[in-house]
Amino acid sequence: MNANLLQTPIDYLKGVGPSRAELFRKELGIHTYQDLINFFPNRYLDKTKYYKINQLQQNSADIQVLGKIVAFRTIEQKRGKRLVADFVDETGKMELVWFRGQKWIRENLKLNIPYVIFGKTNWFNGLFSMPHPEMELLEEHEKSLRTAMQPVYPSSEKLTNKGITNRVINKLMQQLFIETKGKFYDTLPQNIHEDLKLISRAEALFNVHFPKSQELLSRAQFRLKFEELFYIQLQLLVKNMLHKKRIKGYVFDTIGDNFETFYKEHLPFKLTGAQKKVIKEIRSDLGSGAQMNRLLQGDVGSGKTIVALMSMLIALDNGFQACLMAPTEILSVQHYTGLIELCKELNTSIELLTGSTKASKRREIHEKLENGELDILIGTHALLEDKVKFKNLGLAIIDEQHRFGVEQRSKLWKKNELPSHILVMTATPIPRTLAMSLYGDLDVSVIDELPPGRRPIKTVHRFDSNRLKVFRFIRDEIEKGRQIYIVYPLIQESEKMDYKDLMDGYESVSREFPMPKYQISIVHGQMKSADKNYEMDRFINGDTQIMVATTVIEVGVNVPNASVMIIESSERFGLSQLHQLRGRVGRGAEQSYCILMSGHKLSEDSKTRLQTMVSTNDGFELAEVDLKLRGPGNLMGKQQSGILNLKIADIVKDNQILKSARDYAKRLLTEDPNLEMPEHKMVKYTYQQVAKHKNIWNYIS
Ligand code: ADP
Ligand code: MG
Repeated sequence: MNANLLQTPIDYLKGVGPSRAELFRKELGIHTYQDLINFFPNRYLDKTKYYKINQLQQNSADIQVLGKIVAFRTIEQKRGKRLVADFVDETGKMELVWFRGQKWIRENLKLNIPYVIFGKTNWFNGLFSMPHPEMELLEEHEKSLRTAMQPVYPSSEKLTNKGITNRVINKLMQQLFIETKGKFYDTLPQNIHEDLKLISRAEALFNVHFPKSQELLSRAQFRLKFEELFYIQLQLLVKNMLHKKRIKGYVFDTIGDNFETFYKEHLPFKLTGAQKKVIKEIRSDLGSGAQMNRLLQGDVGSGKTIVALMSMLIALDNGFQACLMAPTEILSVQHYTGLIELCKELNTSIELLTGSTKASKRREIHEKLENGELDILIGTHALLEDKVKFKNLGLAIIDEQHRFGVEQRSKLWKKNELPSHILVMTATPIPRTLAMSLYGDLDVSVIDELPPGRRPIKTVHRFDSNRLKVFRFIRDEIEKGRQIYIVYPLIQESEKMDYKDLMDGYESVSREFPMPKYQISIVHGQMKSADKNYEMDRFINGDTQIMVATTVIEVGVNVPNASVMIIESSERFGLSQLHQLRGRVGRGAEQSYCILMSGHKLSEDSKTRLQTMVSTNDGFELAEVDLKLRGPGNLMGKQQSGILNLKIADIVKDNQILKSARDYAKRLLTEDPNLEMPEHKMVKYTYQQVAKHKNIWNYIS
């Protein structure tokens, strides 16, 4: 083991020196030998292949040419000089161009000697050119470690400008292997090595940097990805275990009147098996003595609300208050009215608190909260305000959590002496893989079954040019007594334009469906909330047949008689949003439809999104596609994507490895929760290093 050697500052590596070291630190976060060894190529090139100059094509990247410089010239430009070299092979001539570092280049590059150049080609003035090529004397190119697969390391403009090219990194990497003799200890338990037929860590590291063959490269990558994911999962699982041991929570061990009466007498329907299973999981959490920290995932319409209510009733039965926070006013109002209806036979007091609650009402709510008269508080972010103090908050539920950040979650749980139990509900299914890595520290429950009698929503894509047919369809559905949503995009940056789209749409819909035969509701973000609620109510009560709206109705809204969702400019919506919107229909027994309207011009991504929507109703499947299209960072927002800063694994593509890593990590912890067995000594050591530092690779080697 050469742990100490690996902690050597990068400055000491032969060929680095202080100024390069500084660049490494600043640009790449490489401080030590260890950091460098864990600086992985992001792709590999076949460096045995040369292009002839007469075979070049415009704008191709990764082009390697063998030839000679025959002349240099400096060209004055308004914005400064550029250095140009004429570069020839036996088939033609091209130009190499430098805008920076000209002096060094002019002095160091030799004329009429074979060079291998590498870079991206441009086509300019009838000639191919290559700006800032990587160059190596043919002689050295041939001497340097030969392999068909040449690693390409991540770079930055600054690095390239300062001459830290791929080739330089490659050389330093060689140097590093010489100085360390390529010895790196193994970090994974022997049984995993055997089960998965892993190559040793040392062999893996060597082969990612200097692949001897495609096969060894693949095995090396597998081994390193597995390790990266394994330690992340181990960390999350241990965190979860500790949480359960240490973070005491209120014990809700009574199942009392509220829950019993509701369950026996007032359930409006039979719970699905999945709902029962989840309620059981929650009950067991609440009685465990540890604080519950649970994520409830269930597709739109799977019936999360009733689970929320029954969990809150358990809290009440144990003498605690509960709250339910939703991301929009409309949704809060709907939860409020829904829960009031469900609880009308129970003796519970429920209030609604949002940004538009009047001051006098607000005061009353604050008071009743503090003296304990109020059992359940429902509302928006308004619940998070410091002024909102509970006498005894035992359970906080957050609906549609993707709209809320982690901080908000923790703000809620701190509203009592002990942390209150937290249940986070989401219908924007975070792909399973992502949930595993992000929420490894949360327990996850899944409602994977829809209430019976639901018919899958039929989704179609229609071009704007077919609008008349769509209108005819709407008319037929209204004839049958159904209600229709027509939704327009709302994108923050251009709210005005969207508003105009909405109003234009509203007008044309009104023309097509004139009063008094047809009644239309309209809801958008710029309306006062009283007006919004009024319009919503008219639709909910069936007074209007059509609801024209922006995405304010996206989450949670529940009008079972609405059976058609028309999404205008659907190409402008993200997949999860489309899915959420579609989830507004299909809530009753009738066949429901989702019609995605768009123009003819569609980007590839838009096409994929619309096709995916048409082909599946499964939110998890959609979420996986979304993840592939958008990448994890965008999907989760900045604060949560940090953990996804993976060095070698790819959370999307390496999904299988992730699952396996998680399984092995679980098994290991079941067998040896404190990592005390002698055969886990290295695992423990590595784990401790990882736990101490955020970036796992800094401390594995
Ligand atoms: P979501 O999971 O999207 O929040 P909701 O809780 O709003 O779903 O439930 C959607 C609809 O399904 C509601 O009208 C609700 O009353 C109904 N529902 C929920 N569970 C069942 C069930 N077990 N059987 C029948 N209908 C149900
Ligand atoms: Mg809901």
